Amino acid sequence: MSGAYCIACKNKYGPLARCMFHRFPKDIERCKEWALLCHRPNLAYMEPGVCYRTYRLCSAHFKPTQYIGKRLIDNAKPSIFNWSNSSQIDNKTNLTLEPEEIKRLPSQIKGEHFYLR
Ligand SMILES: [Zn+2]
Repeated sequence: MSGAYCIACKNKYGPLARCMFHRFPKDIERCKEWALLCHRPNLAYMEPGVCYRTYRLCSAHFKPTQYIGKRLIDNAKPSIFNWSNSSQIDNKTNLTLEPEEIKRLPSQIKGEHFYLR
């Protein structure tokens, strides 16, 4: 049931959810970008439609400037993460990027939003 939670913080979505949940973008490049920002680089290599159908990111990861009303802007990117509280995510998948993968990252991800460990 991986689809029942926000992939970055394990907020559960459903009728009682206190935040909004957003599908991954259908666009392959933006989907990849979200995956990397969420520390889930493995998702970047899935077919974009799969991420769109399966994974959600909750509104806790988006700044208010990423919204128009209750909708995300077209090129919205998640930028608020608290990884120290979600070490169980880190343990489940190997999130360490190999140098080869880092080279393949789009340049904007290497910048302010993406922190390599
Ligand atoms: Zn979340």
